[in-house]
Order: sequence, then C-alpha cells, then structure tokens
Amino acid sequence: MNHYLSASETKTWILVQDKIKEKVTPQQYTTWFSSLNLIKLDTNEIHIHAPNSFCSEWIENNYLDIITSSLEEASISNRKIIFINDNNSSSEQKPSIQNNTSSHYTDNHTHINKNYNFDNFLVGPCNRLAHAAALAVSESPGTAYNPLFIHGSVGLGKTHLLHAMFLRLQESGHKVLYLPCESFVNNYISTIKTGDWDSFRNKYRQIDVLLIDDVHFLANSQSTREEFFHTFNALYTRQKQIVLSSDCPPEEIPTIEERLISRFRWGLITRVDPPGFETSVAIIQKKTALLKMDISYEAACYLADNVVSSIREIEGTLTNIHKYATMNKSKVDLNLVKQIIRGFSKQKRSIGIEKILNTVTKYYGVQLSQLHSKRRLRSITLPRQVAMHLARKFTNLSLGEIGGYMGGRDHTTVMHADDKIKKLKSLDRNVSSTLRKIEDTLTKQNEY
Ligand code: ADP
Ligand code: MG
Repeated sequence: MNHYLSASETKTWILVQDKIKEKVTPQQYTTWFSSLNLIKLDTNEIHIHAPNSFCSEWIENNYLDIITSSLEEASISNRKIIFINDNNSSSEQKPSIQNNTSSHYTDNHTHINKNYNFDNFLVGPCNRLAHAAALAVSESPGTAYNPLFIHGSVGLGKTHLLHAMFLRLQESGHKVLYLPCESFVNNYISTIKTGDWDSFRNKYRQIDVLLIDDVHFLANSQSTREEFFHTFNALYTRQKQIVLSSDCPPEEIPTIEERLISRFRWGLITRVDPPGFETSVAIIQKKTALLKMDISYEAACYLADNVVSSIREIEGTLTNIHKYATMNKSKVDLNLVKQIIRGFSKQKRSIGIEKILNTVTKYYGVQLSQLHSKRRLRSITLPRQVAMHLARKFTNLSLGEIGGYMGGRDHTTVMHADDKIKKLKSLDRNVSSTLRKIEDTLTKQNEY
C-alpha cells in the first residue's frame, strides 16, 4: 500500500513512533508497532494501517492507551482512531513478527528467578491454601489438584509460587515449562507466521508440567484461547499437570468461554489475599533480614499498618527505606519510617476524597447514598468502583480508609475495585475515555 503523506505528517508519525518506543519493550515494539503506518490525519480522525485485523484488534485491546497517549504527546488529541487493514489479508499472513522473537521464547529458564523459591515464601492465613496446594502439586504432579488455578490481585505472590514450583519440580527431574501467558500468545502468533505447528505442539504437549502465569491475558485473543484449549486437553488427558495463575477468578476473565471456565473448575481454584497485619510484620522481618537491615519492632509494626495493599508494595517501601538509611547512615527506627512513608505519600497529587465523590456522582448522575449502598446494578457498581480507583490514585488514604468513605467496605473490596477499573481501562474504550474526562475535571479543579 502506498500512502502519500506530507513532510510534516511524516515527521509527526515518526515522533509518535518514538513516543511509543519509550513506553513498550523493544520486542513489543517490533511485534506490534513497527509495521503500523499513518494513512490519513485530519481534525477528527486518524487512520492507521495495520498489516491485518488480528494485529489491529490486539492493539485496540491491549495498547490503545499507549497509542492515545503517544498521539497526545505528539499534539494529536481528540481524534477517533481508525485501523485499516488490507482487504486481502488472509489468516495465514496474520501478524508481523521478526524472526528472532521465537528463539527468545524457547529458553524459558531465563524467566525463572531463583530467589522465588519455597524457602523464601512466607506463609500466612492469606496464602496458606495456595501454598499448600503448590507444595502438594510439586510433590506429585498430575495427581493432587489438576489443574491448579491460583488467583489474586497483583503483588501477592502468584508468580513467586509458580517459580517455586518450577524450581522444585525441575529438581525432582520433571520436564516442566513455565511461561507468562503473554509468551504463549506471542509464540502462537509467531507460529501462525512460520506454520511450524509441530514444534509448537511438541513444546507445549511433551512435558510433565505446564505452568502458565497471568492467564487473564487470554481474554484478548480468541484464536489463542482456542489453541490453549487444545493444549489443555492434550495435557490433561495424559494426566500431565497444569498450573495457572490469574489476577481474577476464571469466571471474571473478560470474554472467556464457559468451556474453558469449566475446565479450570476440574481442579482446585484458590485465592491469595493481601497479608493481614501479623503476616505483614513477619514478611517485613524476613525481608529486612535478607537486606541485612536492622529495623525496630515498632517500626516494622508501623510499616505493616500503613502499607497494606500488596507484598510487592511492602518490598518497594523497604527498599526505599534501606537506600535512605544507608545513604544517611541512620538507624531504621519509627521516626525514620514515618518520615519516609510521609515523604513518599506527598509525591501523590493530593485531591480530597470529597472532591472525587462529588465529581464521580455528578458525572454518572447517581446519589452518594447509592454509592454507599450494597446495590449491585452495573449503573451503580461502575461509578462506585471508579470512585475507589480514583481515591487510590489521587489520595493518600489507606485502602481501609477509602472503604470507610464508600459505605464501610473492607480493604480487599477497594483493592479489587481498583484492579477491576485498571483492567477495564485497557479493555473498554468507554471506561478509558470516561476516566480521562473525570481525571481532567479533578486535576483542573485542583489548580486553584
Ligand atoms: P504476583 O505474581 O501475585 O503479582 P509476585 O509473585 O510477583 O506477585 O510477588 C511480588 C513480590 O512479593 C515478589 O518479590 C515476591 O517475592 C514477594 N512475595 C509475594 N508473596 C510473598 C510471600 N508470601 N513471602 C515472601 N515474599 C513474597
Ligand atoms: Mg505475577
């Protein structure tokens, strides 16, 4: 296809591509963005040529935010984005992937973090069942729970458990494959191009244990789900173990078919929850010991009380404290911890919760009492979840405090709401544009 662009349009497009490059990995860039071309740009619309519908669909589902923000950074805003494909693009020539990508995914060992082992995993009420199931499966794969499905919000140890299983199973001589779901998807796509289905199927089917991380990624591609379904069946009928992780329970993965959900239910579905106070303290003590950092008990308690959303967040805060204390050669006591936590929260743009509630209720035309209520109509749950998401983003309130403002909901509800909206934001154009509008209003109001 030949398109004639003016010099300034060409320059703009190069700028947009540069902006995209800043936001994605080189591999994502070559896979999805390098073959996009600008066709037409006017005051209302931007037409982008993608090699095929699979590619444009994937970008719309996964990377629309990146495209929109990159366009905005190149001063192109409020345009409708329209993807154009060649009419004759047959399914055989689907995505454009550089040849080197498939080899990247054959070496799965590169993805394993040796520190994510069972010894370093701290067990508490929030993850006891998931941990026990992971151990049982590692002891006798294919017999204990098949499949094992672990779900929960980000940063709660799902990947850690899957890596621990990989390490244990490999030690006991099993043929085991771990991969993030995105790799499965990419590998599937590159196989469409090469047509080498034998090696694709051999790779996934001639193993004892398949560990796939973040299967909610399957939501984005129907044809990959199809292939995954066959892989699942092939392994399952030969009593090979399948372990899956996801940020939500199977039935909440958007667009997933009932037949896959019911497969996942054949085994054990277990959830990891955010750590409670005591587990958080224990995790803090374990991690500080690993960092060889002395922390007073009361400082650890203060941290546990104030950083509750995820274990990853606890780790992040500890790393910051560690850096600060080493740099300033200071003791890690309660004062220092308070000072650092406060310092970091200041970096958030502070917008009051009242302002958020006002703006959200006004935008959706609902009453505050409806947000507080237990009603589960989408017309009310959506604004309710949006309010919780925005409160997480713009205020310094803890999850529990936000729950308090939302009619006395507990901190896991707030966390799930926040996750849900983050996910919807990348899947649903209406939601992402609504959020942008509300956030604009909030930040504008905040300027004076
Ligand atoms: P997820 O995959 O659920 O998003 P990760 O497995 O990546 O979360 O965990 C985030 C971080 O928290 C990792 O560094 C991991 O080692 C740590 N972590 C999570 N759970 C535990 C635990 N129970 N004990 C020790 N560290 C943990
Ligand atoms: Mg993970």
